[in-house]
Order: sequence, then C-alpha cells, then structure tokens
Amino acid sequence: MSAPINLREQTQASLRRPFQLLIDGAWADSQSGETLDVVNPADGVVIARIPAANKHDVDKAVLAARRAFESGPWATMPPGERAKLLWRVADLLEARKEEFAELETLDNGKPVMMSKMVDVPGAVAALRYWAGWCTKISGETRTVDMPGEYLAMTLREPIGVVGLITPWNFPLMAAVSKLGPALAAGCTTILKPAEQTSLTALRLGELVVEAGAPAGVVNIVTGLGSVVGAALAEHDGVDKISFTGSTAVGKSLLSAARGNLKRLTLELGGKSPTVILPDADLARAIPGAANSIFFNSGQVCVAGSRLYVAEQHFDQVLEGIAAVATHYKIGPGLDPTTTMGPLVSATQQDRVLNYIEGARSAGARVVPVGAGVAKQGYFVQPTIIRDVNPQMRVVQEEIFGPVLVATPVANLDELAALANDTIYGLAASIWTRDVSTAYQLAKKIRAGTVTINSGPIAGPNIPFGGFKQSGWGRENGVEGIQSFTELKTVITAL
Ligand code: NAD
Repeated sequence: MSAPINLREQTQASLRRPFQLLIDGAWADSQSGETLDVVNPADGVVIARIPAANKHDVDKAVLAARRAFESGPWATMPPGERAKLLWRVADLLEARKEEFAELETLDNGKPVMMSKMVDVPGAVAALRYWAGWCTKISGETRTVDMPGEYLAMTLREPIGVVGLITPWNFPLMAAVSKLGPALAAGCTTILKPAEQTSLTALRLGELVVEAGAPAGVVNIVTGLGSVVGAALAEHDGVDKISFTGSTAVGKSLLSAARGNLKRLTLELGGKSPTVILPDADLARAIPGAANSIFFNSGQVCVAGSRLYVAEQHFDQVLEGIAAVATHYKIGPGLDPTTTMGPLVSATQQDRVLNYIEGARSAGARVVPVGAGVAKQGYFVQPTIIRDVNPQMRVVQEEIFGPVLVATPVANLDELAALANDTIYGLAASIWTRDVSTAYQLAKKIRAGTVTINSGPIAGPNIPFGGFKQSGWGRENGVEGIQSFTELKTVITAL
C-alpha cells in the first residue's frame, strides 16, 4: 500500500487511520476480519483497505438502527435538534474540505479540481438544505364529508430503519443526498457505499459521530454489493431501501424486498438524448453537448450519451465537439490541472472499451477525439461513434464512459420517437431558440428531467428521478423528503 506523495498531511493521516465499519456508534472491523483493497484508478496502486462486511455485520447494524429508531431519542427529539446536528456535520465537512476532495479523487479518479468545486461543496450545501427540512415536514387538514363534526389531518412520520445503497460516480454526494433527507425525516440509517469508493463515506461517519449523532442513527457497512447490499435489501428489519445504481441491480431488489414489502426508491441507469434542432445556438449547444457526455469521464447517470442533430448541422456539431475535447487535460486526478480523470476501475475501463470495440465490429465509425491517454491507470480516450443504427448496443445500452453516440436526423417529426427509443427515461436536453418547439418536444419526451438550452442541472431542491426503467420515485426537494416518511391520517370526532 502506498499513498501518493503530493497529498496534504491531513489526507495522508486520514489514509493511515484504519477504515472501519460504523455500527451502533462504535468503529469495528468486519466480523470475518476480511477486507477489500482500495485502488487508485490513476495508477492501479492499492492505497487503503476497507472492511468486507458480511450478513452478520448487516444484522448488527440493522439491530442498532432499529433500537435507535424505537427507543432512542432520534425520532422523537425536537426537529430543530436534528437540524442542528445536520448543520454541524456540514460545518465539520467544510472544515475538512481539502482532505475530503483529495480522498474522493484518490478513490474515484475524478479531477481534484472537480472534487473541490463540485463534490465537496455540493455535499456541504446539500447537508444544509436537508437541515432546513427538519422543521418543515408537515401534513394537511382535510374535510370530512359525513354527518357530524370532525377534525381530519395527515401526519408525516419517519418511515423507520432505512438502507441507503450508493454508487461510485459521486460517492460523497450520493451518500449525503440519501443521509440528509433520511435523517431530516427522523429515520435511522444503514449506509452501504459502493465497494470501489467507500473512503469518503467512512470519513463522513467520523463527522457524524463528532457532531453528536446518537449511537445507531447512522451505521456504515462497507463490502460487496452482492453480500452487504443484498443482505440489507432482503432484511426484514429494514423498512425502506433507497438505492442508486444500475437498472439490473435495481430489478434484483424487487424480489429482495418482497419479504416485508419494504419501500423502494430506485435511481437507476440512463441513456439520455441530447437533441440539437436546426435553429439551435450552436455556439452554446456544442460545448453543452460535449460537457454533457464528457463531464466526470462520462460516468454520470444523466450523461447526454445519445446525440441527435438536425442533418444540416451534423458535421459541424461533431467537429465542434471534437474541438472541445482537445481542451480536456486528461491525466491523474490529483494533478490540479487535470480536467478529465480515469474511469473508476479496471472493470469499468474494460466494459467501456468492449462497447467501443463492439460498435466497430458492428460497422459503426469510431472517432477518438482529444488527446491520447496513458497506458497506466484506467483511462479511456473521449470517443464519438457515428454511422450507427438504432438497434446497436451502443445506442440502446448505458456505457457509463466518455462515449458519445451520434445520429443525424432528417425528419424532425421523428425526434421524439428517437429520443424515447430506449428502455430508459432519466433525462434529455433540447437545444433550440424556439420556445414552443422546445416545450412541445419536452412534453413528448418520457424522461424525469428535461433541460432546454442546458446540459444536466441538479440540486438538492430539484426533484430527480426516472421514467420507465430509469427508476421508481423521486429524490430531492419535497418529493425526496416525503419518500422517507409514511403518511398517517388521524380523524377526531368533535
Ligand atoms: P451497481 O448497481 O453495480 O452498484 C450500485 C450499488 O449497489 C453499489 O453500492 C453496489 O455495491 C450495490 N449492489 C451491487 N449488487 C447488489 C445487490 N445484488 N444487492 C444490493 N446492492 C447491490 O452500479 P454501479 O456500477 O456502482 O454504478 C453505476 C450505475 O449507477 C449506472 O447504471 C448509473 O446509471 C447508475 N447511477 C444512477 C444514478 C441515478 O441517480 N439515477 C446516479 C448514479 C449512478
């Protein structure tokens, strides 16, 4: 194991401390003592080890969360106290922002500039946003249409013990975007971060303890999805699973959840279209389309991975996107000048390269753009694939890498059908100067978020989720907080 030398001392110290499970307010190794290696995607070097938990560890965490929910002070304390705790976690995170940014980059590969500008400040802001919700969760009064006099009202109560399962592309932000609303609603939690990127979630656990969370309110259990995630999903002591990850695993949770009919929120994959109409402002649309697929090396669920361009602009748009790609500085994320890092793992690199090779064999034209990439580390060069047909796997399936699939469109009446022609429905972007065309198309596209003259936009207050096989339910905003509550109706005869 070795840590890169140009890390600040605080980050090196963080790497030297053991990474352990957080169960019932205490840090511990996994029951089996087994660990998983944590690899720096920029060079393949092992930088840390995390506990590989098993079913027994999950049982302990669920028991602790159940006890904290049923008899602890958490669910019944004044909501303002929960708000203070979340705000304290945000302050502590902000105070350690440089360390968290470096850890996130080491673990995931993303440029440290991005970890500093997007991931860590985004997580701090999200914690503060959710702190605000603690005192604003409320029900309604309803009229009773019966003889007599009644007071009927609805209450929003915490759903109970929740399992939070997160992916590796925005590790800290994903953890916070689930912990924030769950804790604000008064739930107790078991967080299971992706095994590739658990470091910042575990260090966030230190901040939660330091901020004064009662034991058992936040438990963090690391390990393989097929072991820890699966055990959590089928556990009868868990009332809800909030899952972000692939559609395939999301589907497997349906059967796992059957036993106690636990609630499920599923934020799954996407294959989102970027649509450039004949009257689009190309000076904005071209960088918008490029950044929409290349940001975070394409490892973004809402990435604009399918491009549909009005035929007359097709070549100009592709040349423009290739020109944008030449400005990316591809390299190790810890280099402060890097703007595109490696993919998260060797597995993900293989997966993306296989899709590219598959498209080439199927007769598509593969155009690498931007600079070439180093052999060491899990880098993939930004790539445009053209001359495709709608049935090809690269058009239909989520690649989750810096690979754009481009199609010219002659008949604009077909645009909505083309945009909708996958099993997914997470996001879409439309580029046009005509507001009514934009709105008409936005209404026809079956996706959870449609942006007009912009790439993907997200925030803790903006509802987020998918149509079709991109998921169930919505995160963020009022919809997000409500998904961690049960609705109870109370009727009093006066
Ligand atoms: P993944 O589904 O393999 O893993 C996601 C999480 O689920 C990880 O924590 C993993 O350990 C866990 N897991 C794996 N198998 C499990 C099982 N059998 N039971 C329970 N948990 C299990 O996905 P990934 O490869 O880590 O992430 C990439 C995917 O996530 C992409 O498909 C992407 O679109 C999706 N994603 C979606 C959103 C969204 O909000 N819609 C956001 C980010 C990523």
